[in-house]
Amino acid sequence: MNGKVTIITGGAKGIGRAIAVFLAEKGGDIAIFDMVDGSETVATIKKMGRNAMYVCVDVSDFKLVEDAVESVYKEMGRIDNLVNNAGITLDRLLLRMKEEEWDKVIAVNLKGVYNCTKAVLKYMLKNGGSIVNVSSITGIMGNIGQSNYAASKAGIIGFTKSIAKEYAERGIKVNAVAPGFIKTDMTEALNDKIKEEMIKMIPLKRPGEPEEVAKVVYFLLSDYSSYITGEVINVSGGLYM
Ligand code: NAP
Repeated sequence: MNGKVTIITGGAKGIGRAIAVFLAEKGGDIAIFDMVDGSETVATIKKMGRNAMYVCVDVSDFKLVEDAVESVYKEMGRIDNLVNNAGITLDRLLLRMKEEEWDKVIAVNLKGVYNCTKAVLKYMLKNGGSIVNVSSITGIMGNIGQSNYAASKAGIIGFTKSIAKEYAERGIKVNAVAPGFIKTDMTEALNDKIKEEMIKMIPLKRPGEPEEVAKVVYFLLSDYSSYITGEVINVSGGLYM
């Protein structure tokens, strides 16, 4: 990562935190955007000898995001990478799903990606950059009770490919990862029976660790993926192939 600055949304915990720590291990500096306090993650990264900052921001609000991005540029002097990772679920069968539940999931998961990408682009235009969007295999396969979430995650894939085409000539790569069933608070909330059923369906017969997603995100941000843009990499233990 060579001192490059990466903004990670939802970086205070779960997959986002694992990405933040892994990139710092690889020599990167990190800015975390989250509504959960990210100071513990920042302290961990600083102990590793890297620079890090936390901004409390709701990614669904464009003005707040724009200000947060500006504060990163002022404090860290550059913005090289963005990982759009913040996401929520509000699961319910469509007939019972309230309009607010649909709107909220789209606002955080999909509009949040538009907001953050738009806000960082102007800083990336000069020196290029790399963006990784965290989608989900649910956005490809669909899932009962997750029409709002699946729509947001499928939207991220279309967005990823469009922005990859729009900014390739400016030296900006845009890719996505689609995790399957990863051990975080998001999946901890599922009941044990559902978790067991999920694991049975995974060819590798276990849930993924957040670090296993982080390694793929690192690959997509780094020069190891210099000829890859507009791609979606599934990280699902074979659950989707
Ligand atoms: P997590 O542990 O719940 O972490 C997500 C983080 O994003 C939380 O700190 C969360 O805060 C934050 N966040 C939520 N809304 C936000 C907003 N409006 N503005 C800023 N930050 C916000 O979830 P995770 O499992 O690590 O998931 C990370 C990403 O991976 C998500 O996009 C998720 O959809 C995707 N994913 C996860 C899995 C999985 O199996 N875990 C599978 C496929 C895809 P709160 O805690 O306050 O909500």
